[in-house]
Amino acid sequence: MTTNDLSQLRDKIDEVNLQILELLNKRGEIVQEIGHVKEKQGIVRFDPVRERQSLDLIIENHDGPFELSTVQHIFKEIFKASLELQKDNHKKALLVSRKAQPENTIVDVNGETFGDGSQRFIMGPCAVESYDQVKEVAVAMKEQGLTLLRGGAFKPRTSPYDFQGLGIEGLQILRRVADEVGMSVVSEILTPQDVETALDYVDVIQIGARNMQNFELLKTVGSVKKPVLLKRGLAATIEEFINAAEYIISRGNDQIILCERGIRTYEKATRNTLDISAVPILKKETHLPVTVDVTHSTGRKDLLFPAAKAALAIGADAVMAEVHPDPAVALSDSAQQMDIAEFNSFIEDLKTFKDKLA
Ligand code: PEP
Ligand code: MN
Repeated sequence: MTTNDLSQLRDKIDEVNLQILELLNKRGEIVQEIGHVKEKQGIVRFDPVRERQSLDLIIENHDGPFELSTVQHIFKEIFKASLELQKDNHKKALLVSRKAQPENTIVDVNGETFGDGSQRFIMGPCAVESYDQVKEVAVAMKEQGLTLLRGGAFKPRTSPYDFQGLGIEGLQILRRVADEVGMSVVSEILTPQDVETALDYVDVIQIGARNMQNFELLKTVGSVKKPVLLKRGLAATIEEFINAAEYIISRGNDQIILCERGIRTYEKATRNTLDISAVPILKKETHLPVTVDVTHSTGRKDLLFPAAKAALAIGADAVMAEVHPDPAVALSDSAQQMDIAEFNSFIEDLKTFKDKLA
């Protein structure tokens, strides 16, 4: 064989490669069309029976130098890539995605906006324990110019024997204090049945980490006119988190604030592992505001300030942290709540940091 022959054969190969490429893309376009048809009909994308038929057709017609198993393997890869293509298209269609809405969603909580570049603070006790306890924290917050008061009335506790919260009475305390001081209430609701009642007391419904995939609850808060603070699940991937938000928006409520609160990993130095890169990822993938809960993610007082600085620097729309007048006797999360003095220096230092960032 001459060098000339070899280069002619190579030219032929290049030509065949281009033909395969053209056919592959043609196939991809048809696959996308099929994806659209299936989406309209609301049917699942992967159809194993159909895939079996396609493979059988290839097996029956195979007559060439390649081993049958090799040809099957190549076609399986093509099928897989096609399925991914349909999935990508589906992702684009999510209502929470940036692709669906390029501009930020602004969540408005009685005039305090999230998603317009301002960076907010959501503070308050882990759990509502008494009127005096909430009032003391609220007054300290107001003195610092903060108006977003958090506090758990319904507490999802790991042990059924731990303090479960004051329930409706807790919501009433929060509302009373908020009205007296001029603040907005952020509080967790655990069941779909309690959502209706909560509307009278809270300004933001919090969905806790343990309920991120409580789909009935998500659907219920999706159908009311009230901002929702959705926390990331204990070990949820970003994709699962985004889909949880999709449950809410798909029912008509786009007033959603996402909250990164740390995820479970093998690391034991912190209560959870703060996934700080989730903030820019969520902001890139969705049009929703993102907040960082530094208390539950770190579980360590000495890390609250550095974690909050990281959150602000990386572009979070808000920072959440817990404050209690006397953390040592708090009925929940006593080790990681700040007392009033700690809260004051935390906020003052963060304000200085924020000014430096601007
Ligand atoms: C809370 O914020 O009160 C709380 C229970 O947090 P999480 O759901 O993130 O554990
Ligand atoms: Mn807590």
